[in-house]
Amino acid sequence: MGNRVVTITVGIKPDHENFTVHERLIRDSSTLIEAYLEFDEREHPELTAVLTDYQSKDFLIYNQWLYTERLFMKAEGDGRSISEGRSLIKGYLLGHYLGDMKYRDTLMDALIKWGDGAETEDRMKLVCEQAIAVFDGTEAKDPLRRFITDFTVWNTEYELWSKNYKRFPQDFVAMVSHGYAYRCHILGSGPSKRVILQACLYHCHGDNPFYKAKPERQDYSVFLFVRRLTGTLTGRPARLDRTPHNPRNAARQTLLPTMNLPTRNQRAPRLPSLTTRPKTLDTR
Ligand SMILES: [Zn+2]
Repeated sequence: MGNRVVTITVGIKPDHENFTVHERLIRDSSTLIEAYLEFDEREHPELTAVLTDYQSKDFLIYNQWLYTERLFMKAEGDGRSISEGRSLIKGYLLGHYLGDMKYRDTLMDALIKWGDGAETEDRMKLVCEQAIAVFDGTEAKDPLRRFITDFTVWNTEYELWSKNYKRFPQDFVAMVSHGYAYRCHILGSGPSKRVILQACLYHCHGDNPFYKAKPERQDYSVFLFVRRLTGTLTGRPARLDRTPHNPRNAARQTLLPTMNLPTRNQRAPRLPSLTTRPKTLDTR
């Protein structure tokens, strides 16, 4: 039991990459994959999923985290810091799309830590680069929106904000405005201090009582050993690592299907109440 694998194709063919993941591992972690596999199980014998809107380097980090519960970042050199910040945001958006709460919360912890250590220039660069993607890729009240807003309120210089605010999404500008008012007139503090007082302020697990519980995990050490030998487990563990959450549920043992996931612009159906198959799939 538990040795079946699913192939996840990331990117658009021919510039795609295939990842092999133990079915049980990814089903337990991603509500999107779980819902599609469960929904499609009678139609297709192959275990394949397609993610067209994401990059293989971001999925690689996710895949390695699934097996090790650690974040392996590959960036080196001068641009390492901003590159890590960028990867964390992109990874979070991938986790959001996949419906992987624990991955999102893991990346959020890493992002908060990243913000503590980064240079001012890199912090501002991250906001300018990623704010639009964050607001495009999430819904109202998403913890990442809350974080990037507070991060901006506490880190962005006047010059940068006044020059750039017009090109940001209206929701973002409104939230930052609200954040500045709070900071000035009530008694605010930045994200790092706020998490000390309220650790789960930027997490998405809500009141889930299982988030700290560790379910029984299959031993993947032999698999990981082979992957290290063959060079398919690479990178170094990020110093950003902190992994307190684990909201996994028991997965069902079922015969598995082929599935084409909807593109990001088509939006994933609300989960877990998935009752119909999306009509247009993988159109790019
Ligand atoms: Zn939490």
